[in-house]
Amino acid sequence: QERLRPLIAGNWKMNGTGAALEQIARLRTLLEEAGDIDSEVLVCPPATLLHRAAQGAEGSPIHIGGQDCHADPSGAHTGDISASMLLDAGASHVIVGHSERRADHGETSQTVRAKAEAALAAGLVPIICVGETEAERLAGTANQVVGDQIDFSLPDTFGETTIIVAYEPVWAIGTGRTPTIEDIAQMHAHMRALLVAHFGGAGETALLLYGGSVKPSNAEEILRTANVNGALVGGASLLADDFFSIIVAA
Ligand code: PEP
Repeated sequence: QERLRPLIAGNWKMNGTGAALEQIARLRTLLEEAGDIDSEVLVCPPATLLHRAAQGAEGSPIHIGGQDCHADPSGAHTGDISASMLLDAGASHVIVGHSERRADHGETSQTVRAKAEAALAAGLVPIICVGETEAERLAGTANQVVGDQIDFSLPDTFGETTIIVAYEPVWAIGTGRTPTIEDIAQMHAHMRALLVAHFGGAGETALLLYGGSVKPSNAEEILRTANVNGALVGGASLLADDFFSIIVAA
């Protein structure tokens, strides 16, 4: 497989007020000092910070993304945010189907697909999250669960947009536990085969991110694994220096 340009994406979740924008400024400085960086860099702050984060990142290699969007372009959905609103605030990407959304908000793969379609229609790149629970892994159904999530969460038509799927085992998120490198390699090979079967060449060039307790100390080994084309990083993306170490490891 040709080497795909990796994507290192940070998910701040529900963390950060205005003071956290210093981390964008710090990351920008670190990237500028480093010069040639071989990865795409994305930060997904909470929606309240999107616009200011995008202003702070302007003219730098840092892309800004949302953490979720509604499937409709507008309407009576109190508290929700549409894909075109994220775009307007300065986002280029949006995470959809994060396991916390699936669990806390009852999002099904069908919901996730509608959100990904809305993102594409608005001109955003969706990052579609999949991953099994610990019970599913112990029951030996991880491949089946992730396969079904891929089948039902991905829009049929990706057009010119790069397909990005993040494999995030639910039990590895925020726990400090990660699968073995062999298990990551196995699942990523499984996802690659499914995407190639569905999408042909677009499946070959899809970016498959790993997420779940990625940190500076394990990033290099994980990012060296076959079919791992980047990382989705939660906790370790909150501090620019940690996040930068992960970017450099790619
Ligand atoms: C995430 O929520 O996307 C994530 C990977 O979190 P953490 O890195 O904190 O496990």
